Amino acid sequence: MSSPDPSPVPLLDLQLQHDGIREEVAEAMSRVVESQRFILGETVEAFEGEMAEFLSVPHAVGCASGTDALLLPLMALEPKPGDEVILPAFTFFATAGAVWNAGFRPVFCDVDPHTFNVTPETVEAVWTERTRAIIPVHLFGQMAPMEGLNELACRKGAVVIEDAAQAIGARQRATSNPDSPNGEVAAGASGIAGAFSFFPTKNLGGFGDGGLVSARDPELAEKVAKLRVHGGRQMYHHEMVGTNSRLDALQAAVLSVKLAHLADWTDARRANACRYHERLAQISGLELPVVMEGNWHVYNQFTIRVRDRDGLRAALAEEGIGTGVYYPVPLNLQPCFSELGGHPGQLPESERACSEVLSLPIFPELREEQIDRVAEAIRRYLGA
Ligand SMILES: *Cc1c(COP(=O)(O)O)cnc(C)c1O
Repeated sequence: MSSPDPSPVPLLDLQLQHDGIREEVAEAMSRVVESQRFILGETVEAFEGEMAEFLSVPHAVGCASGTDALLLPLMALEPKPGDEVILPAFTFFATAGAVWNAGFRPVFCDVDPHTFNVTPETVEAVWTERTRAIIPVHLFGQMAPMEGLNELACRKGAVVIEDAAQAIGARQRATSNPDSPNGEVAAGASGIAGAFSFFPTKNLGGFGDGGLVSARDPELAEKVAKLRVHGGRQMYHHEMVGTNSRLDALQAAVLSVKLAHLADWTDARRANACRYHERLAQISGLELPVVMEGNWHVYNQFTIRVRDRDGLRAALAEEGIGTGVYYPVPLNLQPCFSELGGHPGQLPESERACSEVLSLPIFPELREEQIDRVAEAIRRYLGA
């Protein structure tokens, strides 16, 4: 038995990232403070422009959170009672909460057991004549198969809103999209809208909550921009009932600084993933993240699956290694949705994923020896 290394490996350490950009961020925030322009204005517009360019989309509209970045385009669809939106049962709650709060009925579909993403088949399996939209979630930083999903939605007369909260900068080879630069399409750039989150643990995290909607259609972008300011762009004149959901100028200032570093941070995440793949190759009973052909994964999470997930998690905790379980309960089985009639066994892959997934530390500043220590501890537990 080797003796366990006493220094802990946290699941995430935001302090290390901040250490590298402290002055830059402080200056940007100070400029906003000195301007005393805290609501929308040039700082927010500048960041929206940078995001639109980064994603190669014509429009980007900042808002208060990733949850609202889903809610606002859904509200823009103006649902009638009984209208449905299809989304995966295996995702963060916000995806379903936004669908519900916009006035749609959430319809849950199953996921692929290797990528944890929806597929055209799992979506089509729950399609009804009330389906108005589908929300593929690019879970853990890897895109769902957009070509097939867009084709399905188009054929059946529904729209696609991408939940790209975990996938900023992720890309996918696009064979049939004539607009795509370099034959690739970014997460959030091929549906009618894409939702991004700047929650601090996301790959581009602010100093609090924040979100952004990407849109290809100018009318939709305009509607979302209205909805975030109570449904009227001219003060005190309201064409729609919207809400208050703006990206703070202070957050936009922080995010502009950080966006310039995102490519490097993503490369570091990918290098960490690569090292895990080397160190954890060919262990029976352990499944490493599977990257779909043509996908460029940005690893918001590095999520493995093992039968005895809880045992492994406890053993890693013993050695001071932080892990996360995203997500322990499929959304179709959440008590708040009981009236929708979800039942155990309905979406078997989502349920199995909930009991087997474990996310390992993957943040950009993680050191090689820390990855090796995590891998060693996993090998030891699995007797490999
Ligand atoms: C984080 C997240 C959201 C919500 O973002 P918030 O900024 O926390 O509101 C939505 N969907 C997914 C998949 C997420 O991971």
